[in-house]
Order: sequence, then C-alpha cells, then structure tokens
Amino acid sequence: MSNITFTILKPDSIRNGNTGAILDKIVKSGFKIKAMKFTKMTDEKASSFYSIHSERPFFKDLVGYMTSGPIVAAILEKENAVNDFRELIGSTNPEEAKEGTIRNMFAKSISENAIHGSDSDENAKIECEFHFSPDEIFN
Ligand code: UDP
Ligand code: MG
Repeated sequence: MSNITFTILKPDSIRNGNTGAILDKIVKSGFKIKAMKFTKMTDEKASSFYSIHSERPFFKDLVGYMTSGPIVAAILEKENAVNDFRELIGSTNPEEAKEGTIRNMFAKSISENAIHGSDSDENAKIECEFHFSPDEIFN
C-alpha cells in the first residue's frame, strides 16, 4: 500500500473562497503537503486527466467545468492516503456525502463537487506524475 494521494481543489472551490478552509481541513486531518500548485488546466489536459470518462454523457460539461477557472493541485502524504482521503472528501454526490466531509461542507452538486481524490494507489501515482515533475515534490 502506498502512502501518497493526489488532489485537485476544483474551480468552484477557488471561486467560492473555500481554498483556505479546505486546505486547513486536509492538513488538520493529518495529510502532509508534498507538492502544490495554483494553476489552470487546458482543454487538452483536463480531457486527458478524465479520459476514463470520455464516453460518459457528462464528459463535455466536466471538461468545461474543470477548465472554467484556476485550481489547486497537490500531492498529499499519509498512511493509507488514498482510502483515508476518499473518506475525508465523501461521496461524489454531495447529497450522499457524510456530515463533516469536504463535499458535504463545500460541494453544490454531483458535477461541481469541490474536490478530486485519487481512487487507487496506481492512479495516485499516474496523477501525481501527470501534474508534477520530480523537482516540484518535497519531503
Ligand atoms: N461527474 C459528473 N456527473 C456524474 C458523475 C461524475 O459530473 O454523474 C463528475 C464529478 O465532477 C466527478 C467527476 O465527474 O467528481 C469524476 O467522476 P468519478 O465517478 O470519478 O467521481 P469521483 O472519483 O470524483 O468521486
Ligand atoms: Mg474518480
């Protein structure tokens, strides 16, 4: 099991002024920030990042949403990082997300749902390498 996961604070989180509150919650939940950047995804980058969903009906809207403004991308470290972080962010649909989870607190809808978290160790590694070069990652 790996101790690394990858996250994106999505454009709605930045737009709604929730960047600080969400990062505070992540750090207070025991995750260490190993890499972080404030950036904006191109159409090409967002399409590639979410290519697994390319056949889904919501794909075009998803790419539009993810490129609608700046994001915060980060690599996080904690024991059992992937599973613990998925617990912390809550269900994809905020209406189903448990009380106190990030999506319960900050997400408005199943599409604009505040935050991304890797779903497996394998994808965490792929996603970290997709967004960061080795010289941007610190111990
Ligand atoms: N999404 C959507 N409609 C859906 C399901 C997902 O717009 O019915 C968006 C939403 O932003 C979600 C992202 O697509 O976070 C990726 O979907 P996934 O099923 O991987 O959910 P996640 O892993 O983010 O919980
Ligand atoms: Mg997913």
